[in-house]
Amino acid sequence: MAVGRFAPTPSGELHLGSLRTAAAAWLFARHAGSRFLLRVEDLDPTISRHGFEAGQLADLEAIGLDWDGPVVHQSERRDRYDRALAELVDRGLTYECYCTRREIREASTAPHVRPGAYPGTCREAGARRVAAARREGRPPAVRLRGAATVVSITDDVHGTVEAAVDDVVLRRNDGVAAYNLAVVVDDADQGVEQVVRGADLLDVTPTQAHLCDLLGLDRPRWAHVPLVVGPDGARLAKRHGSVTLADLARDGLTASDVVRWIGRGLGAEAPAPGVAATVADLLGGFAPDRVPATATAELPRPG
Ligand code: GLU
Repeated sequence: MAVGRFAPTPSGELHLGSLRTAAAAWLFARHAGSRFLLRVEDLDPTISRHGFEAGQLADLEAIGLDWDGPVVHQSERRDRYDRALAELVDRGLTYECYCTRREIREASTAPHVRPGAYPGTCREAGARRVAAARREGRPPAVRLRGAATVVSITDDVHGTVEAAVDDVVLRRNDGVAAYNLAVVVDDADQGVEQVVRGADLLDVTPTQAHLCDLLGLDRPRWAHVPLVVGPDGARLAKRHGSVTLADLARDGLTASDVVRWIGRGLGAEAPAPGVAATVADLLGGFAPDRVPATATAELPRPG
C-alpha cells in the first residue's frame, strides 16, 4: 500500500501554514487510499526540549487528522543516520566544514554564489585552514560534496524543477544528523511514496533526490503545496496576528472554520455550512490536480 506522511519539527505551536500543509498531506494520501504516517523531526535537542510535540498532535487531531501506527521520532533513529553518513564519508562524497554562520553569511554575498546555497569556502580548503580551525578547537560540520551536479525532479504541483546540488550540511558541528540527510533516509525506510510538504522546501528537493541516488534509496514523488502568506505577501508568521488554533479560538474561530479555510486554499469543495467540518469532509471535493501552485493570502473567517 502507498504511504504518505507529515513530518513536523516540534519548534513551536503549529500555525495555519503548517496545519494546511498537514491537511494537504493527509488529503493527498487518503485520496490515493494510502497509509498516512506522522514523524516528529526532533533531532535538535535545543528545539525538542521545549515540549511542543503534544500540542502539535492535539491540533492535528482537532482538525480531524488521523494517522496510521505509532508516531516515529527521529531522535530514536540516530544510529541509522550515522550509518548513512559513514557510507557517504567512506566514498569521499563529503568534506568537513569549519565555517561559522558569520563566515557563511559574509561569503554568501559574493556574486557567483546562488542565494541560500553554501558558498563553498571549505570545499577546497587547504590543509592550513583545517589545521588552524582544529587548533582553535572548532568542531567541523560534515557537508555533501555537491560537485556542481545538476539534478532534475518532477513535482506533482510544480512540474519539472532543476537545480544544482547544494553542499548541504549532513551532520552539524554539534554531532546531530542534519535534516536533509535524515529526511531522505526516513522517507525511504518508511516506504513513503509521495512527500507532500510546504513549497519552501522545493529548492532543496533536487539535492535530496541526489542524496537518495547516492545512498541507493528510492526517490519518493513530491508535491509542494503553497505557503500561506500574510496580507503583506510575506510567509505567515506570528507577527501577522492570530496564526495558531489557540489564537484563533480567542478570536472566536473554531477548528471547523480553519478546516473550511484549508479547503478553500486547496481547491477542495467546502462542506455544507452550519455543521462542524473536519478534514474528512474535504475528501469528497479534493482533487490533487486542483491544488494551486501559488500562495494565498486569505485568512480564516467564521462559518
Ligand atoms: N520538519 C520539516 C519542517 O517542519 C518538514 C520536512 C519535510 O516535510 O520534509 O519544516
